[in-house]
Amino acid sequence: MWDGEHLHQFVKETFKDRSLIVVSNREPYIHSRSNGKIRCDRTVGGLTAVLDSAMKSMGGVWVAWGSGDADWEVTDREGKVAVPPDQPSYLLKRIPLTPKEIEQYYYGVSNRFFWPLFHKFVDRVQFLEEEWLCYKEANRRFADAVLTELKEKQSPVIWIQDYHLACVPLMLRERRPDATLSLFWHIPWPSYDLFKIAPCRQELLESLLCCNLLGFQTDSDRDHFLEAVEKEFAAPVDFSSHEVTYKGHVTIAKTCAASIDTAAWIKLASLSGIEKKVGNVRRQLGLPSTGFFGIGVDRLEYTKGILERFSAVDIFLTRYPQFREKFTFMQIASPSRMAMAEYREYGEKVENAARMINRKYSSNGWKPIEYLPSHVGSLDLAIYYRAADIAIISPFADGMNLVAKEFVAAQVDERGVLLLSQFAGAAREMPGAVLIDPHDLEEFVSEIKRSLEMAPSAKKAAMSGMRSHLQTYNVYKWVKDLLSESCLSHKRSQTVTPLSDRFPVPQSERAYSPSLIPPPDFPPLP
Ligand code: UDP
Repeated sequence: MWDGEHLHQFVKETFKDRSLIVVSNREPYIHSRSNGKIRCDRTVGGLTAVLDSAMKSMGGVWVAWGSGDADWEVTDREGKVAVPPDQPSYLLKRIPLTPKEIEQYYYGVSNRFFWPLFHKFVDRVQFLEEEWLCYKEANRRFADAVLTELKEKQSPVIWIQDYHLACVPLMLRERRPDATLSLFWHIPWPSYDLFKIAPCRQELLESLLCCNLLGFQTDSDRDHFLEAVEKEFAAPVDFSSHEVTYKGHVTIAKTCAASIDTAAWIKLASLSGIEKKVGNVRRQLGLPSTGFFGIGVDRLEYTKGILERFSAVDIFLTRYPQFREKFTFMQIASPSRMAMAEYREYGEKVENAARMINRKYSSNGWKPIEYLPSHVGSLDLAIYYRAADIAIISPFADGMNLVAKEFVAAQVDERGVLLLSQFAGAAREMPGAVLIDPHDLEEFVSEIKRSLEMAPSAKKAAMSGMRSHLQTYNVYKWVKDLLSESCLSHKRSQTVTPLSDRFPVPQSERAYSPSLIPPPDFPPLP
C-alpha cells in the first residue's frame, strides 16, 4: 500500500537531482491578518488538500497565486515561504495577480467560461476575447515563475494542475523542450458537441498537446478529449493506447482518478473520544435513538445540486411522513467564489429553500434541515461523517468528488450508506454506493428511503469493498502513477521526435511575450 514514505523514496530514486515543480491556481496555505496577527490556514478544495499531502512527502516547489492579505508579509524576496508552517517540508512560491487578472483570468475565463462549459451548464457560459487575452497573460506569469525555479542543465519535472493553467504547457515547452511536462485535468471534459462551442478550442488543445502526459478523472473525460483532438486537428489518435501524435510529438492521455489520504481520514475518524462527539451531534439535533442523520458536504456551488437535494428531502418527508421528527439532513456549504453574483444568488436560493422546508415540517423542536453555510475543518467533518447514517452527494457534474471518498474512508464502523450521483467521477470507483440521477427526483426519494432502511449486513458489505479500494488507491498511489507515467511518456516522445525539433526557433529570438500566441479569430458564441 502506498504511503508518504513510499512516495518520498520513489521521487528520490526516480528524479534524483531534477527539479520537481507543481503549479496550480490556488495556493495550499493562505496567510491573512486577523486581530492584528498573521494567521495561516489551509485553503478549501479537493485539489489543494490532496496535493498538499503529496508535496509534504515529495518536497519541491509549488507555484500558486498568493491570494491572502498577509501572504507577502511572510515570503522572501522571491515570493517563497516554507510550508506547512508547523513542519515545513516544501516551498510555496507565490505569484501576485493584478485586480484585472483576478477579474478576467480567474472569475472571467476560469469560472465563467471553463467551469460552466465543462460542467455542461451551457446557459451560464460567457466568453470574452479581452478576458481570454488576459487569461493567457496570467498563464504566462505562472509559466515565468516556474522557469525562474529551474536548474539550467537538468530536465525538470513539471506538473500543472487544471483548467486555470491550460496555456502554461505551450509556454513552458517553448523554453524547456527537455522538460517532463504533465497536466491533470481535475474537472470533467465534455463531449465534442459541447466542446466545439469554445472559441479558444484549438489554442487550448495545441497547448495541452505540449504535455507528455495528460491525466483525466474518468475514461469518458479522456475519450472526449481524444475525440476533440481528432475532430479539430485530424491528428492521428490511437484510441486503444490513448496516444496522440501531433506535429511529431506523442502525448499520452491517461485516466487516473484523484484520491484522498485514506489513512489520514481513518486516523481522524478513529481518534479516541470521537464516539462521544458523534453521540453529541445526534443528541444536539434532537434525534431519537432510532432516528436518522443524513449529511451533505460541498462548496456552495451550483454544480453540486444542493437545491435539488433539498427538494428530494422535501418530497421524501411528504411521501413518507413516518420519517418526520426522525430524519435530519445537515448540509455543510463552504462559501466559494462569493465575489461572483451568481454564487451569491445561488447561496440565497439554498438558504431560502432550507428555511421554506423547515417552516413546512418543523415540529416539537425538530427541524428537517440543518443548514451550515460555513467552512468546517477536517476533524469536525470526520465527526459528522461518522455520525451520519447516509451521505447524500448529488452533483449534476463533478470531476471526482473527494467528499464521497472521505465519507467512505471515515466509516470505520461501516454503518453508513453513500448515496452518490452517477455524474460524479467517484461513481466509477464506488460500486457499493447507491447511485442516483439528481434530475430524477422520484427515484432519488425512493433511494433515500431504501438507504435508510438497508440491513446492517448489506451496508457493511458495500462499505467494506469501497474502503479497501480506497486504501490501495489513495493519493500517494495517484501521484506516483501519474509521475511515473509522465516520465515514461517523456522518454518515449524523445525517441519519436525530440521536442527541440518541434520548437526550432533559437531561444534568444523567441521573445517571451504574449504576442507569441497570436490572438485567434474569435467567432461569436452560438
Ligand atoms: N471541505 C472542507 N470543509 C468544508 C467543505 C469542504 O474541508 O466545509 C473539503 C472537503 O473535505 C474536500 C474538499 O473540500 O476535501 C472538497 O473537494 P471535492 O472534490 O468534494 O469538491 P471540489 O470543492 O473540489 O469541487
